[in-house]
Amino acid sequence: MALVQSEGIVLKTHALGDTSRIVVAYTRDHGLVKLVAKGARRTPSRFGYSLEPLSRARFRFYHKPDRDLHLLSQAETLDPIGSRLGDLTRLAHAQAAIELIDRLVWGEEPHEELYDLLARTLGCAVEAPLAALPAVTIAFELQAASLLGYRPRLEACAGCGGPLSPRRLFSPARGGMLCDACGETGAGTIHLSADALAGLSLLVSRPLAEAGDYLEVRRAGEILRVVEAFMREHFQRFHGLRSLEVLRSLPDFEPSEDAPCPG
Ligand SMILES: [Zn+2]
Repeated sequence: MALVQSEGIVLKTHALGDTSRIVVAYTRDHGLVKLVAKGARRTPSRFGYSLEPLSRARFRFYHKPDRDLHLLSQAETLDPIGSRLGDLTRLAHAQAAIELIDRLVWGEEPHEELYDLLARTLGCAVEAPLAALPAVTIAFELQAASLLGYRPRLEACAGCGGPLSPRRLFSPARGGMLCDACGETGAGTIHLSADALAGLSLLVSRPLAEAGDYLEVRRAGEILRVVEAFMREHFQRFHGLRSLEVLRSLPDFEPSEDAPCPG
């Protein structure tokens, strides 16, 4: 049993007995961990904001290999993100991000790039212009999927590597755009507008903080539907994400003029 230290972001907490708390945190060095904070409910001041969902904190804990729960020794708040959101829309986007990590990641395999992406996304939830938040959330979903090995293929056919069909066919099942021949055989393809394809490429590849520049609001609904279909196809645990309902209900996601039709 070793005393280890890592920066992490609190995804959720549960009560444990009358006085303690279990903290589920996504950490930079130990992946997803469950920490027992003894006495955290009896003397909450001992931990300050560090155990609140969305907080970024430095945790010191006794790491027991092969155990599901580790004993928290100390936690120091680095950024009380939840207390800085100040707005229900910002909160909804921040919750969408931590919920996605909670669903898609498990086990204590560290993934520093994914951790940093989550931290930047929460930073944007606090600071980016409100109008840019849907783009940030969609970019986060695409980039998280890419880091987990499911980067949508947009520059060549996802089926055979050939040149793309001028009809701009996206196949959620095959994980990207198709050529004409592959488009003939696959059901469930989505016709994309040129703007939506261009927006999608930028959202996958460019820094999150710029995402708002790439997503024309009138294409947001079209892009969101493609991203959702893609994520649902490749991540079973993407189904029924509570925060997506919130995202879908935002005024920016009015259906676009030419909605994609089934191929
Ligand atoms: Zn092909």
